[in-house]
Amino acid sequence: MTAIDELLRRNAELGDIVPGDRSTPKPSMQVTILTCMDSRIRVFEIFGLKQGEAHVLRNAGGVVTDDMIRSLALSQRKLGTREVLLVHHTDCGLQLVTEDDFKDELERDSGLRPTWSVEAFREVKDSVRGSVNRVRRSAFLPHRDTVRGFVYDVRTGVLTEVV
Ligand SMILES: [Zn+2]
Repeated sequence: MTAIDELLRRNAELGDIVPGDRSTPKPSMQVTILTCMDSRIRVFEIFGLKQGEAHVLRNAGGVVTDDMIRSLALSQRKLGTREVLLVHHTDCGLQLVTEDDFKDELERDSGLRPTWSVEAFREVKDSVRGSVNRVRRSAFLPHRDTVRGFVYDVRTGVLTEVV
């Protein structure tokens, strides 16, 4: 049995879950939350989020890449969001690699060197500042005044504002 089989089994057991507002794709709180794919960050629980309230964008590190800007531009311009809440976290997988080592590994195995940045970091507060600055500097985004960056401690659950 694969993990996907197990998830499908759980889904069937849970049945159709339909509470919350499903009337519009526009988030009612007009906010986008950007965070890491880390499985310990339970975004909906941490912020008491309900269905229909916020956009949640995730990738490795919660880093503001070009693709995050793509989603943010759509979120703000077409779906009405105005604020950005960025959450990076302690003990992130991106602190376990370096830019060159990971690219070397990919090149060794595939013969290709990626053109994208791995976005590895050592100090999580620096990664928060870097990502927040990318949002604030992006000319594609109409709403850059309310952008706040935090570190989430995956062990204690404490959220600390950085910028
Ligand atoms: Zn992470």
